[in-house]
Amino acid sequence: MRVGILGGGQLAMMMIQSCIDDNVEFVVVDPSDNPPANKYVKCIKSEFDNTEMLDRLSRECNVVTIDFENVPSSALKYLENKIDVHPNSKAVELCQDRLKEKKLFEECKIPVTRYGKIDDLDNLYTSKESFSNGAILKSRFFGYDGKNQVDLDSTDLETAFEACGSDKLIIEEKVDFIKELSLIGARDKKGKTAFYPLVENNHVNGILHTSIAPYDDDYLQTKAQSYHNLLTKKMNYVGVLVIEFFLDSKNKLIANEMAPRVHNSGHWTIEGANISQFKAHIKSVTGEEINHIKVDRCAVMMNILSTMPDLTLFDQTDPVKIYDYGKTERKDRKLGHITIVDVDKNNLLNRIKELEKYTT
Ligand code: AMP
Repeated sequence: MRVGILGGGQLAMMMIQSCIDDNVEFVVVDPSDNPPANKYVKCIKSEFDNTEMLDRLSRECNVVTIDFENVPSSALKYLENKIDVHPNSKAVELCQDRLKEKKLFEECKIPVTRYGKIDDLDNLYTSKESFSNGAILKSRFFGYDGKNQVDLDSTDLETAFEACGSDKLIIEEKVDFIKELSLIGARDKKGKTAFYPLVENNHVNGILHTSIAPYDDDYLQTKAQSYHNLLTKKMNYVGVLVIEFFLDSKNKLIANEMAPRVHNSGHWTIEGANISQFKAHIKSVTGEEINHIKVDRCAVMMNILSTMPDLTLFDQTDPVKIYDYGKTERKDRKLGHITIVDVDKNNLLNRIKELEKYTT
C-alpha cells in the first residue's frame, strides 16, 4: 500500500512515524526545501497544483491524503478523477472557508456563535453595531493559529479590517466560554467512526499551548460525537476529522471550527492511546477498520513555540516524550511538543507548571 501525502509538515512526519512497522509506503509532496517529513522520506519539492506531480502521485499511490488543509481543493478534485482521495475535495473546500463551514454546522443543527459575512469596510461598520457584546473579525480563508483575525475590542475597525489581510471576512460574536474542547474521530470507509475522548485545550494568543486528555464528561462526549457523525455523514468523509468547540457556562457545546486532518490537540494520542490519531488516519484512508480506541491514562501535550529549549534540561525518561520537528526557529512557529502521560491527572497538572518554565 502506498499513500501520497500533500504537505510534508510535522503532521505528515508523525503519520509516517506511526506506520514505520507497517506495510505502508509514503510519497510526500511539499513546496519547501526541507520539510519535517524529510526525516523519513525524501519529499518531492513541488507546488500542490503542479499537474505533472499530481499525475505522478496518481500513478505511484493507492490513495492520497493531506497534512495541510489549505491544499487547493482543485488539486484534490483533479486527483479524484484518477485515484482515491481522503478526505475528499468537497470536504476540504468546506473546511477552508469559515463561512461555508459555519453554514454546514447550521445545516447539521450544530450550535455556532452569531456571525455575519463581511465584504468591505462599510459593511463592517454597519454589522459591528449588532455585535455589542464583543466580536472577532476573521479572514474566511487561510486562518490558523489565531492568524488573520482581530478582536474588535482591541482596535478600531479600519485597522482591524486591514490587519485581516483580505476582504473576504467573517465577523463572529465573542463567546464567553469556560473551556475549549476538541473531538477527534477517525471514520473508516464503511462509515464507522472510532472516537477519542474529548480533549481540553488552552490557547495563548490564539495558538494552542496545552492539551489535556481525557476531558471526562459522558453527556458532552455523546453530544460531540453525534455532531461529528452528522458532519462526516453529510460530507461523505473518510479519515480523521477534528471539531473544536467552545463550552459555555450553560454546558452547551458551540462549534468553532473543524480540521479535515490530524490535529495538534491529538498529538498526545501517540503515547496516551492504543492507536494514535496518525495511525488511525492512515488506517481509515487505506480502507482498514479501526478496532476500539482505548485510553487508560491521562496525557498532557505542550507545544514548543518560537525557540527550542535546551533539551538536556529535561528528564526524558518515561513518561516524558519530546518531539523536535527540526524546523528553523521563528516567532510563534510550532517547533516541537512535549507529551507526558500518567495515570494520575493531578501529577500531570503539576508537571505542566514545571514544563512551562522551559517552554514559555
Ligand atoms: P480559531 O482560529 O478560530 O481557532 O481561533 C483561535 C482562538 O481564538 C480560539 O481557540 C479561541 O481561543 C479564540 N477565539 C476564536 N473565535 C472566538 C470567538 N468567537 N469567541 C471567543 N474566542 C474566540
